[in-house]
Amino acid sequence: LPTVAIVGQPNVGKSTLFNRIINERLAIVEDRPGVTRDRNYAPAEWLGHKFNIIDTGGITWEDGKIEEEIRAQAEIAIDEADVIIFLTNVLSGITDLDEKIAQLLYKTTKPIILAVNKADNPEQRVNIYDFYSLGLGDPIPVSGSHGTGIGDLLDKVVDSFPEKSDKVDDETIAFSVIGRPNVGKSSIVNKLLGEQRVIVANMEGTTRDAIDTPFTDEDGTKFRLIDTAGIRRRGKVYEKTEKYSVMRALGAIERSDVVLLVLDASTGIREQDKHVAGYAHDAGKGVIIVVNKWDLPKKDSNSAKDFEKVIRDEFQYLDYAPIIFVSAETGQRINQLPQLVKKVHENQTQRIQSSVLNEMLLEVSKLVPTPMVKGKRLRVYYITQVKGNPPTFVVFVNDPELMHFSYKRFLINQLRENFNFEGTPIKIIARKRK
Ligand code: GDP
Repeated sequence: LPTVAIVGQPNVGKSTLFNRIINERLAIVEDRPGVTRDRNYAPAEWLGHKFNIIDTGGITWEDGKIEEEIRAQAEIAIDEADVIIFLTNVLSGITDLDEKIAQLLYKTTKPIILAVNKADNPEQRVNIYDFYSLGLGDPIPVSGSHGTGIGDLLDKVVDSFPEKSDKVDDETIAFSVIGRPNVGKSSIVNKLLGEQRVIVANMEGTTRDAIDTPFTDEDGTKFRLIDTAGIRRRGKVYEKTEKYSVMRALGAIERSDVVLLVLDASTGIREQDKHVAGYAHDAGKGVIIVVNKWDLPKKDSNSAKDFEKVIRDEFQYLDYAPIIFVSAETGQRINQLPQLVKKVHENQTQRIQSSVLNEMLLEVSKLVPTPMVKGKRLRVYYITQVKGNPPTFVVFVNDPELMHFSYKRFLINQLRENFNFEGTPIKIIARKRK
């Protein structure tokens, strides 16, 4: 999905605009205990165009260094977004900070849409013409608090989305290595790309906005390794803030088929690991849990099992993700990663014939009774796979309201037992049979 970022100086109204744009219905995700959803990132939709929106603000810097903050915002937007909304305020006019932000944004070729907030009435609206002097095109008057102008703004946003023909090569498996700082992401990437069996196609980082590395494994499988924060571009301001590094991973997750979620065996699981994991899961991507620095802990015969148990407890919603214990330091099992990515990709793109699925449905319906709500029993007539990546199944029933979460869960488990969906989430949609 395209990503839209909102940048602007503090108090200009970014989060109000953000909340106007996000579709509350879509933003509700399934309950995941232990994961607090931060409100800086949400799915949104306008006239059938789906996208993700980032509010790059929403972070208070204790030391009050506003300049660093806006620099970080601009870097995030330039690195991550497909379209940037630069929000200003008609009441204050163009400020020094606005000019600084504009300077930072001149560096990108990505579309920038200049919005002028608090243009609540015609009187103020006249003043928006001053904003032409920022050199970023037509200023669009909006009012976050009244909700006016948002439609025009979003029209312009969706018009600026990049063409779909982003040359999606079906044969290439895109994956990223994500995790909180210092878990060893860049060490893993470097080790992986340094393997003899891996042929790196080109390492020149000529593009300004993204550096991905295509490579081929010894069996000829084509991969694209998607760069994330700090892997090969250290030193950006926003990396200092944990919250920003999570945001930075979002774009990479979005562009991936499979995500390697790296944990650090020497520190155990931290709160921020859960944030990153939650995003990967919500995005519907394949997930592999990579426990790095496996050379460090003192091990007895149960260590891996014990660690695995902790992971399964802490990331219950990732029950489908395989776990691999590696060391970027010694190279242990690093060379198994591409094949594991390939396997997960096979699982997430496989298509299962309806006849086979319905045979399964017949069998499993004998195992447990369907749920009954207010005296009405769920009847399941037919199941079919409507797409892969993530595998999505439509189940035709007498009344979708009766499809209780636990029964959905049961069907997903049965699909996992009967087929190999290791590493990929599965979606089930209940539809009323006509
Ligand atoms: P990133 O921020 O996730 O990219 O983490 P780095 O790759 O920069 O690694 C952070 C630190 O952990 C560095 O000092 C690495 O040398 C160290 N490190 C990374 N992988 C391993 C490992 O497998 N074993 C050990 N002992 N140290 C590691």
